Amino acid sequence: MYFRANEGSHYCGSCLSGQVERNFLKEISRNPLTKDDVVAVGVSGGKDSMVLLHLMDKLAKKTRTRLIAITIDEGIEGYRDKSIDAVKVFVEKLGIGHRIVSFKNELDFSIDDMGKKTFLERHPSGKTCTYCGVFRRKLLNKAAREAGATRLAVGHNLDDEAQSVLMNVVRGDTVRMKRLGGQKGKEGLIPRIKPLKNVPEKEIVAYAIINNIPYFDGECPNSFNNVRRDVQTVVNDLEAKYPGTKNQIVKFYGKIRIEDKPGVIGRCVKCGEPSSKDVCRACELLEKAKNL
Ligand code: SF4
Ligand code: ZN
Repeated sequence: MYFRANEGSHYCGSCLSGQVERNFLKEISRNPLTKDDVVAVGVSGGKDSMVLLHLMDKLAKKTRTRLIAITIDEGIEGYRDKSIDAVKVFVEKLGIGHRIVSFKNELDFSIDDMGKKTFLERHPSGKTCTYCGVFRRKLLNKAAREAGATRLAVGHNLDDEAQSVLMNVVRGDTVRMKRLGGQKGKEGLIPRIKPLKNVPEKEIVAYAIINNIPYFDGECPNSFNNVRRDVQTVVNDLEAKYPGTKNQIVKFYGKIRIEDKPGVIGRCVKCGEPSSKDVCRACELLEKAKNL
């Protein structure tokens, strides 16, 4: 089986698998796993997180590291419920413990509720993603910490990383830009790792097909009009015209130093989660969303 991974380059199935695995191991080896580690893997059921879980499982068997899969259920009917079904089947096959954390249970609020409250008519759908992303990050970190995790692995690929760098440029957001480099393990924040950050999306899809990794291929109904989608189009156009652009954007990020005031991480007075302000961003947004 041959795959076209980049413009002008083709791989046979096993070469491509080897390449993805080498890339994954190289990134992980920056801070090797041990038997004392507990890795929480954020698994949504999409291709990236399912490939990540497969690779982490292979590695964890060698290093005797404990894994736990965590899925955040934002409450998006017809989308997240289906992807969760795919995760359930896969974790059972791999024999990995799985915890599902829902917005509804934790926040008494789901992303679908936002639509019902005519939120979407008042705000562009891009705003929905802002709320969703902040809540998801908070709950994922909380669940990982509660599971005793020493690291939190997420399935961001090369395309995601390049888009995130550019999105922060578009927003002029140096704080988030700095955070992209990794979350430090302080004050209840579990250190985040992104073992697939140098693997292009196309290679992840091919890897999943070659290795029979199941995944849910649907698209969130709210994703049609967010900033990421626009940035994705720009980055893909540039990559088509100037192959290697995605790699260069990520490399560029690795070379720059971002100066900003180091935020002191304390605890949110409302929910007790890590925050650099008295009230964390999630509690701030939740209050807003409930009053709409
Ligand atoms: Fe949440 Fe937006 Fe992603 Fe949908 S596209 S899961 S609303 S962040
Ligand atoms: Zn809070």
